[in-house]
Amino acid sequence: MGALFVSAILASCGGEAPPVAIVAPLTTVAPRPEIYADFQLTADLGELSDKQREMIKILIDASQIMDDLYWKQAYGEDHEAWLDSIADVDTRRFAELNYGPWDRLDDDKPFIEGVGAKPLGANIYPADMSKEEFEQAYLPGKVGLYSLIRRNADGSLRLIPYHVAYAEELKKAALLLRSAAKHAESTDFANYLKLRAAALISDEFQVSDMYWMDVRDNDIDIVIGPIETYEDRLFGYRAAYEAYVLIKDHEWSDRLSRFADFLPQLQKGLPVSDEYKWETPGTDSDLNAYDVVYYAGHSNAGSKTIAINLPNDEEVQLTRGTRRLQLKNAMRAKFDKILEPIADELIDESQRGHITFDAFFANTMFHEVAHGLGIKNTIDGRGTVREVLLETASSMEEGKADILGLYMITELHKAGELGDVDLHDYYVTFMTSVFRSIRFGAASAHGKANMVRFNFFLDSGAFERDAETGKYRVDFERMASAMTDLSRLLLTLQGDGDYDGARELLETKGVISEQLQADLDRLTNASIPVDITFQQGIAELGLE
Ligand SMILES: [Zn+2]
Repeated sequence: MGALFVSAILASCGGEAPPVAIVAPLTTVAPRPEIYADFQLTADLGELSDKQREMIKILIDASQIMDDLYWKQAYGEDHEAWLDSIADVDTRRFAELNYGPWDRLDDDKPFIEGVGAKPLGANIYPADMSKEEFEQAYLPGKVGLYSLIRRNADGSLRLIPYHVAYAEELKKAALLLRSAAKHAESTDFANYLKLRAAALISDEFQVSDMYWMDVRDNDIDIVIGPIETYEDRLFGYRAAYEAYVLIKDHEWSDRLSRFADFLPQLQKGLPVSDEYKWETPGTDSDLNAYDVVYYAGHSNAGSKTIAINLPNDEEVQLTRGTRRLQLKNAMRAKFDKILEPIADELIDESQRGHITFDAFFANTMFHEVAHGLGIKNTIDGRGTVREVLLETASSMEEGKADILGLYMITELHKAGELGDVDLHDYYVTFMTSVFRSIRFGAASAHGKANMVRFNFFLDSGAFERDAETGKYRVDFERMASAMTDLSRLLLTLQGDGDYDGARELLETKGVISEQLQADLDRLTNASIPVDITFQQGIAELGLE
């Protein structure tokens, strides 16, 4: 979920003087498409019928509309013409990867001279609107997920629902989903596609979200619509369009399906007092592995998601739980192309052997499961944690999921549920992953959450750096208490809805020290990619 941080600092003085805006000087950085390793998104379609293949093509067409809408939200109306105006090949490529002229993995710094800072509200709010103006404006429904804010001719603000602003595109997408439904072999999935089509053109997503929880017998799936709120860095209220087209991996799914059953028991064992864990995580959740065959819109911008935990709707989560989708082919790409090379550079020889794909897969999987733990509403009844923590909400939630994921692994390992695997594999692979995620920069909620955790663990001695070799190792004894302390801290900040506390944590611990920066620079100098980018589509799948 959600979003972050103000690169320009607004300092308002008290007393008579008007507020003065101090804007940090904005440097233009160089385009760097090489930080993304190329990866061809394919999957084994051998088992699929002709109808299913046809359906995948239609779902990809619908996804491309989400891609176009996301461009409008992130950048502006006519992105094609803008891209065509960029002469330099590297710059144009980098603009495509970032859906705009700002480097998403470097705090959204501009890489084209003269474009200025990225508006915190992207193209979802007027660029010249302040937080205060929005807060004071009378706009019914203004804390909603599915609307644009624009100015009237007289300068006042108005709200335009997505289904009005994007009526034409959404109608096309809805027609495609209905047409895909005709090819579906699963009746439930066909019904879901029809409900989702209706949702797209009405901005009413809850019914389709609820129904999606029941769709179990489909080999092909799609996540589509305005879903995550990271693009709204002003408030974290509004969702951006995206899509994933997915093919279920039955073999790996069977391996995963049993873990959701442990959630209620693990919720009870959380290291906080009862009022912070009174909510019951939905047990009717499922956990499955997929190969992704298409990413579009938000999911395809900057860093690529390797696991999904949806729906975000708190009511659905409380009554039904969530579905967790592990994106296996994308995960494998990141492990091979990024994690292993990072380990070679930064992990102590004595622990290098603990970095395994199975541990990477498990850590990512349990991160997703752990989103279901903890609390969704503040303990004093002020509302959902997400609403109260505003732009810090995403970092707190991602940080919680990371640390509680490791807590789950530790507990399940103790109980003998994880088989004959060395617990140290999970911890060392976890630390290596932190380096990978920190490279996403402070503009990403995941990146910020990882900086907090890295500093927390370094300060507590759970991570150690050898001054001579410049390599890191895990102190397994200290790891346990550091894990408990950080879990308690994040669960409490969330339960209390402590916005000031969350900000303070991000400001003090969500930073990259000089030492860490120097170590991260070693990864850059070794040309280790930061993320992956996909060659994807109908041709790549051999469906033409
Ligand atoms: Zn997450």
